[in-house]
Amino acid sequence: MLTAEIIAIGSELLTPDRADTNSLWLTEKLNAIGIEVKLKTIVGDDDARLEETIKDALRRSRVVITTGGLGPTEDDITRKIAARAMSRRLVLNEAVLDALREKFMRWGRKMPEINTRQAMIIEGAEVLDNPHGSAPGMYLEHEGRSVILLPGPPREMRPMYETHVSARLMAKAGDVRVARRVLRVSGLGESAVDERIAPVYTQYKNPQTTILFNRSEIEIHLTAQGKSEQEAELLLDGLAGQIEERLGDAIFAFRGEQMEEIIGLRLAVNGFTLAVAESCTGGLIAERLTEVPGSSTYFMEGVVTYSNDAKVRLLGVPSDLIAEYGAVSAPVAEAMAEGVRERAGTDFGLSVTGIAGPGGGTEDKPVGLVYIALSDDAHTEHRKLLLPGDRQLIRWRASQAALDLLRRRLI
Ligand code: ATP
Repeated sequence: MLTAEIIAIGSELLTPDRADTNSLWLTEKLNAIGIEVKLKTIVGDDDARLEETIKDALRRSRVVITTGGLGPTEDDITRKIAARAMSRRLVLNEAVLDALREKFMRWGRKMPEINTRQAMIIEGAEVLDNPHGSAPGMYLEHEGRSVILLPGPPREMRPMYETHVSARLMAKAGDVRVARRVLRVSGLGESAVDERIAPVYTQYKNPQTTILFNRSEIEIHLTAQGKSEQEAELLLDGLAGQIEERLGDAIFAFRGEQMEEIIGLRLAVNGFTLAVAESCTGGLIAERLTEVPGSSTYFMEGVVTYSNDAKVRLLGVPSDLIAEYGAVSAPVAEAMAEGVRERAGTDFGLSVTGIAGPGGGTEDKPVGLVYIALSDDAHTEHRKLLLPGDRQLIRWRASQAALDLLRRRLI
């Protein structure tokens, strides 16, 4: 398999304020055409370190892609240093200079002299046009390596890669295609998932399996290589099927979908409607549901009833129920779900009440104690959860558990 490395250039990428997202995007694109990224480096605007990095990369990798540092200012050093690392000259390219001048004219400005730098092209390199900015990119073959210099801004880098780079690298990669799939699992921990599926996935080198823990779910990442996309997809189908046999409906998504998308799909297909009453999640469930386009066909309303009074006034929860059991209790959660369903006239009512912390916990009712309830016209059920994590995590996990309760009812 052809291997690549990516060098992200720019001192701002070494500060806490900016992240290198270009390499994530490029990695996805490279993987899709069967090129494996073996190494990524972030280098500041430092001549010596960048030269060393590029030389090392040329030694190791058949494809070397840099992003950034192609601007017109003194600290944009990529052109100069890449040329030096390959012992090639930088040559003023008149055609590029004319095109740059013209570009500035179209923008209604005279080209500043310093932009002449951007017409300095590495000897032997092909110029990659940049319709979205001033910095042209470069593509060259150097001692059996493909070297590609791309601009830093994603909106310039991405179209340049798609237009000028992707097809060439695909031809180099040959008949290798990579397909990926993400299965999402809820209600089981990482080790429980691994215990069940390790006997299956360890039998295969292709597809490769990685198990990751997310905020509230386990993700199973499958990557397959084949001679064609179809072949790779078939390999994924095979392994995903075997994993499904072992995990059943704990898997809520087979193509990386979010829980709220899956719920939306199920509600829409069945023509069901939903209303939500939230306390400790403060509207998070409604927010997640309504992020999905088309949610208005099944999501009717969400009520945030934070205070006891609101639970009584807006949902009709009996105040003596709250007095007897407390706002964070199974009877109140159920009354909230029933109340919101009846008042909204929906098929389902879903509710959450709990203690997200950091304060407010007691020995009886510690931080992380959450009740979720689901009501339809036949019956109402609840779950008691003890969720670990900080306030933000508890809120997220409570929203996920509530949505999952509904998902399982919809199966
Ligand atoms: P231009 O001259 O068009 O600005 P450039 O190649 O000089 O191009 P840089 O000056 O290095 O680009 O970066 C410009 C901006 O692009 C950065 O401030 C940052 O917002 C974004 N950028 C650069 N590198 C990356 C990266 N690796 N990931 C995400 N964004 C990046």
